[in-house]
Amino acid sequence: MNIHEHQAKAVLAEFGVPVPKGFAAFTPDEAASAAERLGGPVFVVKSQIHAGGRGKGRFEGLGPDAKGGVRVVKSVEDVRKNAEEMLGRVLVTHQTGPKGKQVNRLYIEEGADIAKEFYLSLLVDRETSRVAVVASTEGGMNIEDVAHETPDKIVTFFIDPATGVWPHHGLQLATALGLKGPLAKQASALLPQLYKAFVDKDMAMLEVNPLIATGDERLIVLDAKVSFDSNALYRHPDVVALRDETEEDPKEIEASKYDLSYIALDGEIGCMVNGAGLAMATMDIIKLYGAEPANFLDVGGGAGKEKVIAAFKIITADPNVKGILVNIFGGIMRCDIIAEGVVAAVKEVGLKVPLVVRLEGTNVELGKKIINESGLDVIAANDLSDGAQKIVAAVRAGK
Ligand code: GDP
Ligand code: MN
Repeated sequence: MNIHEHQAKAVLAEFGVPVPKGFAAFTPDEAASAAERLGGPVFVVKSQIHAGGRGKGRFEGLGPDAKGGVRVVKSVEDVRKNAEEMLGRVLVTHQTGPKGKQVNRLYIEEGADIAKEFYLSLLVDRETSRVAVVASTEGGMNIEDVAHETPDKIVTFFIDPATGVWPHHGLQLATALGLKGPLAKQASALLPQLYKAFVDKDMAMLEVNPLIATGDERLIVLDAKVSFDSNALYRHPDVVALRDETEEDPKEIEASKYDLSYIALDGEIGCMVNGAGLAMATMDIIKLYGAEPANFLDVGGGAGKEKVIAAFKIITADPNVKGILVNIFGGIMRCDIIAEGVVAAVKEVGLKVPLVVRLEGTNVELGKKIINESGLDVIAANDLSDGAQKIVAAVRAGK
């Protein structure tokens, strides 16, 4: 689960992390009064969307010369004017995709005097089972570009969760960022604060880009992007309260209500599969036969009829879906349950696109019988490859 920058900064501030003062605003009036409270003389008006690259982003409907999604201004009146221009408008950045994201809230912050920008992030490293700290002197830029062009400028080290942060880690960070004196000291103090926030809140990723040194030698977190491990949300009601559903795909929200593992994708073939591995394989094989999956969907091992109906409805509600492939390997999950769910769902929502069903495993004969006797226009498939070829062909024929 992702949160907004201003929420991430508030979470980090609880752990003592230095962040600029600021207030969230949903209207131009709120933006102006936030600026009045801050006092100035410099303000930053920041678009709050769940995507990075806002500074270099472009608003739809404004010319190419218009300013991006992060604007530095010098009066309360200019905060208001910029808020009026930004709120309700769609911001396109390299992370939003061409569709962009509508800006529904802003963060009004006190301006910072930037002497140098750094990059710093913490993430779970599965290979070492440790928390990786990634630091670079090349802050403010797209870190993927830095990794590509000057990989030697990225330093990574690991913290063992069994022993936590040690003073030498702080020194390692300061050295990686090329800091000396009071700034080095602040970097050493910052690391345990960020690490504690990361672990206590079950974050999956914490990215600070940029971390800045100010003209008067203070180290400040100027931008923060945080995502949480969804599997740990049950023990963080305070984090769940930060969820902004307007930033999420409505299909994914619906899927989460039924505990389905669902990710919306851009393709045209809807997939209903049991098991994450089989779901991945199904997506791969659809691609192999020249089409693109519209989603990843794992209905899980113990799904009942209701869950199957919900899954089917989510797939058919997607206007991009031009065909559906149901691929079930019955183990714990019984094929007859899936068949009943599919039949019930089709009766309820109708079927406007071709449907290929491949069933195998527990109760497969009963499952096939239910589908055959349902009178539904279903294309039966014998195996994974056959199923993928049949749905791709059916979608092609429908065009
Ligand atoms: P992002 O583009 O979505 O990553 O948004 P950031 O919060 O990182 O802002 C983009 C850039 O705007 C930063 O890298 C800074 O260069 C600049 N910026 C942000 N806040 C300030 C500020 O207070 N003062 C100045 N001068 N620049 C700022
Ligand atoms: Mn940034």
